[in-house]
Amino acid sequence: MDFHFHQDAIERLHANGLFRCLRRVEPDPHGHPGRVMIEGRSVILLSSNNYLGLADHPRIKEAAITAIRQYGFGSGASRLISGNAPPHEALEERIAQFKQTESALVFSTGYMANLGVLSCLIPSQGLLIADRLCHASLIDGCRMSGCRFRVFEHGDLDQLERMLAKRPADQPTLIVTDGVFSMDGDIAPLPNLVELAERHGAAVFVDDAHATGVIGKEGRGTLEHFGLKPGRVFQMGTLGKALGGFGAYVAGSRVLIDYLINKAKTFIYTTALPPAAAAAALAAFDLLREEPERRERLWQNRAYYADGLKSLGFDLLNSETPIIPIMIGDDRSAMTVSQRLLEAGVFAPAIRPPTVPKGTSRIRTTIMASHTREDLDRVLDSLGRIARSLRIL
Ligand code: PMP
Repeated sequence: MDFHFHQDAIERLHANGLFRCLRRVEPDPHGHPGRVMIEGRSVILLSSNNYLGLADHPRIKEAAITAIRQYGFGSGASRLISGNAPPHEALEERIAQFKQTESALVFSTGYMANLGVLSCLIPSQGLLIADRLCHASLIDGCRMSGCRFRVFEHGDLDQLERMLAKRPADQPTLIVTDGVFSMDGDIAPLPNLVELAERHGAAVFVDDAHATGVIGKEGRGTLEHFGLKPGRVFQMGTLGKALGGFGAYVAGSRVLIDYLINKAKTFIYTTALPPAAAAAALAAFDLLREEPERRERLWQNRAYYADGLKSLGFDLLNSETPIIPIMIGDDRSAMTVSQRLLEAGVFAPAIRPPTVPKGTSRIRTTIMASHTREDLDRVLDSLGRIARSLRIL
């Protein structure tokens, strides 16, 4: 059976310069961290969320292999049926310690955590208000909740306050935000969001996917960065970015976690994370504590790169983190810059709508602890040359 509309949609994407396809990424043949092999060439990886270089850390690999020997690979069932293994429980205890909450719950992915949690966190007569630049999984979760759902312009606290003031004061309300915005690299103004939530009897949901392991003195995320207590804040984060593994978590009170175990459909009706993924995440939390120099190097690299970009004349927008977008605007020009970068030995795909708003296509560059100064100099030199030749600078 052939649906014409699939072909039509593909043709429209091509016509608009928005067709996407997969690119094969292989390990660097010489084992250089911070590099990968694309089309047979070793290139600098400037587009990975493996911020601390943990994804191929020997201790994480070893932890996963040991767990596979002990438990096999697949978990065989959902957590509530027969898929709940000791590494899942040990990981949840560790996450609760790390996030300084009473309890935690592991989900199979961040996307599923956001869908499942936002779908059931407040009663259906409630209101969800999300920042316009929230990750797709947050927006989808808000839509799935069946609650009223509104969006405020990115960082526009006045607009948010007007929305809060307009609603009936007793309407259960949740303000939804990324902690670190995944495409812009700025940090949500969490103290202001919490203050607004307190004043209007609302709560806040923060997605710490890009904050976990990255911001805060110990890498505990957005609350630690601002010195806030959980109070009115619900927190989730992922294990697949700085922690170098796979999966996600929600951290909060025992009551919240018991509620989610009973109500979050993306927890209940899905196969449990492989125990080896939980064991790998446990090793990653050990490494976060034992090797703080990784986070230090990440931030030193970020500072060096950001200074270099500024002195070349690039506008970093509001980026405050290792995610730094190079704004291009037009979709095709962004593709050209990305292609030229690849030719120069730097892998950073163009990010286009619908991932980012129309007219804001960009190269989303991400810095890792494993980049060397030589790598960063090469990236800066290539970006400067390409941007000048295309008259972007
Ligand atoms: N939230 C944010 C802000 C993200 O960037 C991502 C991953 N791109 C997710 C959630 C989803 O996490 P996962 O990859 O574990 O599904």
